[in-house]
Amino acid sequence: MSKYYCSEMCNRVAYDSMQVLGGSGYMRDYACERHARDARITTIYEGTSQLQIVAAVRGVCSGTAERFIAELAGQDYEPQLNDLLSKLAEGTKQLKKTIAFVKEQGTEYMDLYGRGLVDIAIDLINGYLFCGQASSKFDMAVWSGEGGGTSESEKVSMRQRKAMVARRYINTNASKIAALAGLVCSGDKSTFTDYEALIGPIPAE
Ligand SMILES: Cc1cc2nc3c(=O)[nH]c(=O)nc-3n(C[C@H](O)[C@H](O)[C@H](O)COP(=O)(O)OP(=O)(O)OC[C@H]3O[C@@H](n4cnc5c(N)ncnc54)[C@H](O)[C@@H]3O)c2cc1C
Repeated sequence: MSKYYCSEMCNRVAYDSMQVLGGSGYMRDYACERHARDARITTIYEGTSQLQIVAAVRGVCSGTAERFIAELAGQDYEPQLNDLLSKLAEGTKQLKKTIAFVKEQGTEYMDLYGRGLVDIAIDLINGYLFCGQASSKFDMAVWSGEGGGTSESEKVSMRQRKAMVARRYINTNASKIAALAGLVCSGDKSTFTDYEALIGPIPAE
């Protein structure tokens, strides 16, 4: 899950960096182009993303991910994060429902929708990890990045900043989890049943 998530995320970051920098991002004159190329191989070597999913989906459907999520949910968190923890609990319910549906459909269906299942589990795990960081007993003032970082008033609490990151991550992903659960539970098997009708005939050799 870590390799899959990090390598896909670094591609997203590299792609968006190039978009932000426009033509300068695309040209070889600057480092961005090199970062984008280097990012691209990470979803291919050392196990492609698809194969990481094939490996991870079994753990999601066999209860390993659920147990890990339950362990994370049982830890102590800051009370100010309670609304986020409720959203994660709701997401976990959706994951369980989705797993139950997929198990009824069989192994082929599990592989077809593996990415959605693994993405839901990762979003929940990451959400709890962010809440854990925002509940750290240790705190310190860090630069907010506003105003160039020249005076003490520009510092913010690191724990507060981590809570903001957790809030943003969990709120953004709550609707994504619901949408993924809906997709996985749609029962749509057209990739198996109507493949050639949808994409055109597969050429004979
Ligand atoms: C720069 C570079 C360095 C490398 N270095 C090393 C090295 O040091 N040691 C080493 O051992 N190897 C190395 N490799 C090989 C690398 O690990 C393989 O390229 C990689 O494992 C993918 O295998 P493949 O290229 O044969 O693609 P294929 O296995 O042919 O895959 C093609 C596509 O089909 C998908 N696919 C395949 N099987 C499935 C499946 N069951 N379900 C869903 N999708 C599937 C893949 O995800 C991929 O998108 C290197 C490759 C590169 C490009």
